[in-house]
Amino acid sequence: MTQAILQNITLPVSQPFMPPYDELELLLKQVYDSRWLTNDGPMLKRLEKELMLKLGVNQLAAVTNGTIALQLAIKTLGLKGKVITTPFSYVASVSSLVWEGCEPVFVDIEPNGFNIDPEKIEAAITPEVTGILATHCFGIPCDVGRIQEIADEHGLKIIYDGAHAFGSTVKGKSIFNFGDISTCSMHATKLMHSGEGGFVVTQKHELLYRVKQQRSFGHSSVNSFDEVGINGKNSELHAALGLANMRHCTTILERREQQCHWYQERLGNTKLELPDVQRSDWNFSYYPIVFSGEKECTNTLIYLRRKGVEARRYFHPALNTVSLWRGQPCARAESVSKRVLCLPLFHELSEDSIDFIAQLVRECL
Ligand SMILES: *Cc1c(COP(=O)(O)O)cnc(C)c1O
Repeated sequence: MTQAILQNITLPVSQPFMPPYDELELLLKQVYDSRWLTNDGPMLKRLEKELMLKLGVNQLAAVTNGTIALQLAIKTLGLKGKVITTPFSYVASVSSLVWEGCEPVFVDIEPNGFNIDPEKIEAAITPEVTGILATHCFGIPCDVGRIQEIADEHGLKIIYDGAHAFGSTVKGKSIFNFGDISTCSMHATKLMHSGEGGFVVTQKHELLYRVKQQRSFGHSSVNSFDEVGINGKNSELHAALGLANMRHCTTILERREQQCHWYQERLGNTKLELPDVQRSDWNFSYYPIVFSGEKECTNTLIYLRRKGVEARRYFHPALNTVSLWRGQPCARAESVSKRVLCLPLFHELSEDSIDFIAQLVRECL
């Protein structure tokens, strides 16, 4: 917030949900009194239990952040060589692959969406491809059924980067129940957060056991090690914040849905491409709008900024064009990434503010 004030921003693109201070304080006091600050402590275990209950998943492992969650997933599944992935995501999806020594193979996104296009995956499969890492971009579910069929046919593992997807569903089931492993971020900018944090979900007991072992240096017991690990733990202090927020997660999800409807009502009759707010499987975690051209998009960004409103080019540039690992051309992703803005969306954003932002956007069209 202080950063926003310094930059003369009255409406930031995002702002973390803050639980009532007394609720947080009670939990922090318990941590303080317990003298147990990290290493799979009681608060973290409580957070894991709450997450499982709320999301309807049988098991999960809380970790340091969403990036470590991805790296643990890649390591645990033993992905090597080439991995098919999306050019339209946050950089962490791809940098995690490269960090783990994999080579990303970029497959373009759907003609009418932001997620990887299953119909283009098959053409990219070669003998060196070992897996697929797909993002549920903005919390909108990938075509998990079709992707699973392709993976089964070719013996590929699937990781879903569900950093945006807390609360999204597929046919009423948690989105985290799909693929071999799903990951989530609980970073302060995400819909459900613990300051820093994340978790790994898999239905396979053996895989979760290994993720838990790897997040704690590979310890199988005090003085023995079954495999190479890393420090992927999260602290009791973060867990307390996460737990305090979890008590409000239904309200947070409902509020997002309402806010997206408010945007839709005010921008619906423009030539912008808008997300479908009628979907029942979406968590409404971001509000992306797509312009007809890049000039219109950047002009709007600048205009909003002059009026104290911060929008973001989520996601620009398309990841296949990053020179660090430059990949296959992806026409649709490259085009969308030049024309997309995410508008401010956070719990305390009022209907009046949304009215104001939408008015400014309309003035630019
Ligand atoms: C935020 C984000 C991550 C990384 O999560 P952290 O908790 O910040 O490490 C990974 N993938 C996507 C798509 C994200 O938006």
